[in-house]
Amino acid sequence: MQATKAIIHLDNLRWNIKAARKIIGPRPKICIAVKADGYGHGAVNISLCALEAGVEYLAVARVSEAAEVRAAGINAPILVLSQAQPEELPRVVSLDLIPLVSDAEFIDEIAGAAEHAGKKITVHLKVDTGMGRLGCHTEDAVSLAAKIFSGKNLYLGGVATHLSVADSLIPEDITYTKEQLSKFREIVSSMKNAGIDPGIVHAANSGALVYHDDSYFDMIRPGLFLYGYSPAYGMDKASLPRIKPVMELQSEVVLVKKVKKGSFISYGRTWKAPEDTFLGVIPAGYADGFPRKLSNDHSVYIRGKSYPLVGRICMDQCMVNLGPETEVKRWDKAMIFGPGFITAADMAEKLQLIPYEIMCGVNKRVPREYV
Ligand SMILES: *Cc1c(COP(=O)(O)O)cnc(C)c1O
Repeated sequence: MQATKAIIHLDNLRWNIKAARKIIGPRPKICIAVKADGYGHGAVNISLCALEAGVEYLAVARVSEAAEVRAAGINAPILVLSQAQPEELPRVVSLDLIPLVSDAEFIDEIAGAAEHAGKKITVHLKVDTGMGRLGCHTEDAVSLAAKIFSGKNLYLGGVATHLSVADSLIPEDITYTKEQLSKFREIVSSMKNAGIDPGIVHAANSGALVYHDDSYFDMIRPGLFLYGYSPAYGMDKASLPRIKPVMELQSEVVLVKKVKKGSFISYGRTWKAPEDTFLGVIPAGYADGFPRKLSNDHSVYIRGKSYPLVGRICMDQCMVNLGPETEVKRWDKAMIFGPGFITAADMAEKLQLIPYEIMCGVNKRVPREYV
């Protein structure tokens, strides 16, 4: 296999699922977000492992993502979080996906597609309690739930909302989340009072899982946490069970070569050897998802030691300074980020990005190896 690959530590995924279970207790279900190809980890393999570890639901953003998971023979319930296109509805129905619906027009369309196929399809109603994205207005929630509940081709399988600042520890944000949750709770009880069974009630993303224990309802919907990252970097609660990054970006030293004092390294000659030294060339670059902005500002882990990256990160390669004497040999493994070393969160922090962007940024040309 090529040198640069993403090692996916499935044991760490299982560990993180256990940690989530420990936080929420035995009752709520867990739905893992596997959108964006499982946050770059590979949706199919992550789904298989998570389901085996007791996760009950999967969530994707696109119908095409759900189709890939179904094609692998996975029959678990799959929520489609984003708005499906009208022409995708026959596929939503035939694949038994569970769309989140926000409006009457789409409810009619999905009911029509179900009727056409001679089926009854489960949908969840999404309520906008303050995220300002998909979801119906809170005042329309009960009537839309009633419409679904009484629809001949529809089941109301659940009611959901999404929290916009659940990962924030700023007091105003905590208040905002509490308000979102209390609006949501009110809506659910109005439904019940109107004789409507809301089905599975769910709201919590990773932030809520960690910081809002009143957000679990019947199911949680985390992504980030299960991939091994705490939602508020560096501000973890002491009581938070330890979680472990699932993805490691690994490469190899493909050339060790001596360079003279004063040699310039890489494009833009941004680094000059201060002494005679050994240089290691590593075939990982920004086209693999190793952000170029980390040029001269990252380290790579080889043989149990950390070596500074020198010069610009190129499209396909980068270089490290191995020092004037080195035990590093050609074909040694080189970890660019991963568990127990610099993590995607550390890189994101430095770049003012979020760890999601680092993980999703690991390109398709990087094969995933599951261990
Ligand atoms: C992505 C997503 C989640 C999971 O979010 P994390 O921050 O990764 O836990 C949950 N719900 C919805 C609607 C989402 O889009």
